[in-house]
This record gives sequence, structure tokens and C-alpha cells, in this order.
Amino acid sequence: MRAAVGALGLALVLGSGQAFAQPARLDTYKTEAARGVDEMAKLAQEMVDSVFSFGELGFQEIETSKYLTAQLEKFGFTVQRGVSGMPTAWVAKWGSGKPVIALGSDIDGIPQASQKPGVAFRDPIVEGAPGHGEGHNTGVPLNIVAALAVKRIMEREKLPGTLMLWPGVAEELDGAKAWYIRDGVFKDVDVVLFTHVGNNLGVSWGDGAGTGLVSVEYTFTGETAHSAGAPWRGRSALDAVELMSAGWQYRREHLRLPQRSHHVITNGGDQPNVVPRNASIWFYLREIDQPHIKQMWDIADKMAEGAALMTNTAWTSRILGTGYPQHMNKPVAETVYANIQKVGLPQWSEADQTLAKALQKELGNPTQPGLAVKLEELRGPVKLEDNMGGGSDDIGDISWNLPTVTLRYPSNIPGLPGHNWSSAIASATPIAHQGVVAGAKVQAMTVLDLLTKPEIITSAWDYFRNVQTKDVKYVPFIKADTPPAIHLNAEILAKYREEMKKHYYDPTKYKTYLEQLGIEYPTIRK
Ligand SMILES: [Zn+2]
Repeated sequence: MRAAVGALGLALVLGSGQAFAQPARLDTYKTEAARGVDEMAKLAQEMVDSVFSFGELGFQEIETSKYLTAQLEKFGFTVQRGVSGMPTAWVAKWGSGKPVIALGSDIDGIPQASQKPGVAFRDPIVEGAPGHGEGHNTGVPLNIVAALAVKRIMEREKLPGTLMLWPGVAEELDGAKAWYIRDGVFKDVDVVLFTHVGNNLGVSWGDGAGTGLVSVEYTFTGETAHSAGAPWRGRSALDAVELMSAGWQYRREHLRLPQRSHHVITNGGDQPNVVPRNASIWFYLREIDQPHIKQMWDIADKMAEGAALMTNTAWTSRILGTGYPQHMNKPVAETVYANIQKVGLPQWSEADQTLAKALQKELGNPTQPGLAVKLEELRGPVKLEDNMGGGSDDIGDISWNLPTVTLRYPSNIPGLPGHNWSSAIASATPIAHQGVVAGAKVQAMTVLDLLTKPEIITSAWDYFRNVQTKDVKYVPFIKADTPPAIHLNAEILAKYREEMKKHYYDPTKYKTYLEQLGIEYPTIRK
């Protein structure tokens, strides 16, 4: 039993294992954190623009991770690199003791999404190169600014707790988070505050809309022969790939409505006059719950077996990624939402709205409402029978292992198709910068809530244990020895990196990336 009085006169009353800050004091902290974030707006802009300019794909986030960890070390965080056998994964920690609050966000880009920011039509920086066609350049900068704003207060007030920052490596491949869970990266963590770019400030709890998935590559092996001279001596692996592809397209009609499945052929053989000995096809198989994802995977295995029988080839498969359907924590989401209401949406400029409306028009959207000006409601669970599928995020795996929420922040323009050059347009403009500042304020305030009100963490775990996982258990799709697919995207980056390097942002020479590229903001069709 003791009472500690901080420099600002915080009364921390420690009794029967409970510590709490007086609400008025917590409000002062939150106001101070918001001001701190505002003061770091320039730092946020530099980090957002820098990561945007790297434009790296999943597992190849080499410059991105080098840059972000250097920032974190500069600010006193201890960084552990190469987490879970992924060269671009890391964990950065500051502080000590409980609670441990883990702030995460994704860092990878999208193929073919190179795009000049602030320009409301397709205009690549490097034709064919990847880019931030999802806005994953903004989330870790948001978390860094939020953490720094809280760190100042923790240092001065001697608040116990550990801040842990971590990147969603290869989120577009659902390639990392299930591995982090398997390898115990979150074993001491109390709450995960994840954040993902959106077009409003929002948060939800319960079963989310959308799907989980397994990402599986099937490889067939046959025998080469002269395609004209002795085709009867060959066995074509490409035939097996094509039959599996056709088979899946037929089967699709007889799958449940919420499913999503898509594939690409990653190897179609070497050259036409040599019967292809090896060929590969890569599927994303998505469904809204674990048993149905597993069912689809079993169907695909059977189909591979059938294609191999038809072509007299052999098959193997490898899991390249996996993401669980998401379930977010109610008490934490309610805490986040209260802070969202405090912070509110950014005050968009006329230039911001002009860019947004011009892009919505460019894409042929029936209406051009521009940027969000009204906050979303707090979203509750989506009933399984109402979930008609959609995208996935491997944050789902984390959400089934400890209390987790995703804060969405307004750094992008509503009404975009996603995974497209158009989603990169706002991602290094004042829209992204202001969205990050708003999101960082919410994130910082929520961390302060968790640091000073342990009862939130207690009810978060109560919800997690006694509601969320009471009847539904996490059954991972990967095994103890499943390696992460860190070879992915290496060839694409090898092809484009030298050209992309010429356009990396240099904040010592240019105020913004827009300035470096010589872009007038906004640039719209005349
Ligand atoms: Zn994403």
C-alpha cells in the first residue's frame, strides 16, 4: 500500500491490487497528448512520405523497416530485428513492467500501384512498379507519433508500463501475424491496439464483416520432352495447373455465397517447345469462419489430386499465408470510440476535397461526396448469417489470442476499389497527414486510458475469455515448422528497386514529397 504523487499531482492510489488515475488528471494527460501529437505533425508527415516513397511489397520491406526502426531507436526504443524468421519484421519496446500495450500496423504495398500522390488520375512514378495502393505507409508513423506523445507523459509522471511497436509485415499476403502468434511475440502483451488506414475515424467490436483465408500454392511435376518431336514422351505440369484452374471455376458455383477465391499462375513453364516439367498455381481461399476455410482447402487439395491424375503428374502444396476471421474486443473498442468522439475528424481544406471529388469522378463513381465529414457510429458484431464475405486481415489471428481492436483513421478517400493506384493518390498528401494526426491522437489517448485504468484491461480479458472464446477456439492453420514465405516478391523488387530508389523522399531537401516530385496540390483533369 502506498500513494505516489507525480509531478502534475497525479494521485495513484494502490490498494487491493488496483491503481487508478483521477479522471480529471487523465483528461489533462489526454489534452497534453493531443497537443504533443500536433507538435509532431511535421515528423508524422516526414515518416508518412518516406515510407510512401519506398513503396515496398510484402517481405521486401527492407528500406521501410530500416527507416522505421532507426526512428524508433533515435527516440529511445530497443529494437529486436528478424522476428519470426522474417528479415523485415521487428519489435520495438520502451518502458518497463505492466501493462504491455502493443501498437501495430501494416507496412507493405501493392503490385502495380506506383502513383504520383496528389494527382487525381493514373500517373505512375515508375511504370509497373509497386506502390502504396492501400495506404500502409501511414500506420506505423501514426503509432510512432502516438507512442512518443504518451512516452513524454509516462517519463515525467513515472507511469509504469511498456510500449511495444510492431509492423504487419506482408499483410497483403497474410504472411506474418499467425507466425508472430505461433512464435510467442505477443505472449506478455495485455492489449493490442492495431490501426489500419480507412476513410473515417472508426472502430468496431465482435465478429467483423469479411473473411479469413488460407493462401496455398500448388506445384505440379511432370516430365519434359520435345513438344513437337515427341510430345507423347512428356507429361505437362502446366496441363495440371490449367485443369485445376478450370476445375475451381466450375466448382465455384457450388460453394457457399460468402466465399471468395482467386488464383494466379506463378509458374506456367519455361518455353513452348519444352513440355513444362514444373508449374504452379497460387490460391487465396476465403470463408467467414475457420471450419469453412478448412473445407475449401480440402476441396482444393482434392482438385489438385484430380488434376495430377488426369495428367499423370505429381503434386505438392505449400501454405504461403493465413488470416483468421476477425473478432475485436468490446471494452477496448468502447474506450477507443470515446476517444474518437473527443478527437473528431480533421478539418479538410478545399484542396483536399477537390482532390477527393475529382478522383471519385475519375473512377466513374455515381456520386462524388468527397472526404468524410461525419463520424461513423461504433460498430457492433456482424451476424454470421449476414456476413457476405469480403477482404481479410491477419490481425484476425492476433484478435483470437488476446484483446485486440483496429482503429481506422481517415487517411484515404472514400469510394475507391482498393488494391489499386487510386488508393495511393491521397497517401502522401495533406489528407494522409491529417488523418494520421487524428488517428495518433485517438491511439495516444487510448494508451493513456489503458495505462491509468487497469479495470479496462480486466474487462477486456473478461470479454476475451468469457464471451469471445467461450465456445469458439483458435485453431491455427500453420504448423510448428511452417516457414514464413519470405521469398515472395523478391523478383519484383529486384526488377524495380533501382528505378524506385531515384524517387525516395529526401526530407533534408524538400518540405514534402509533393514538393520533391514538383506536384501542384491538387492536380486534377482540366
Ligand atoms: Zn491493409
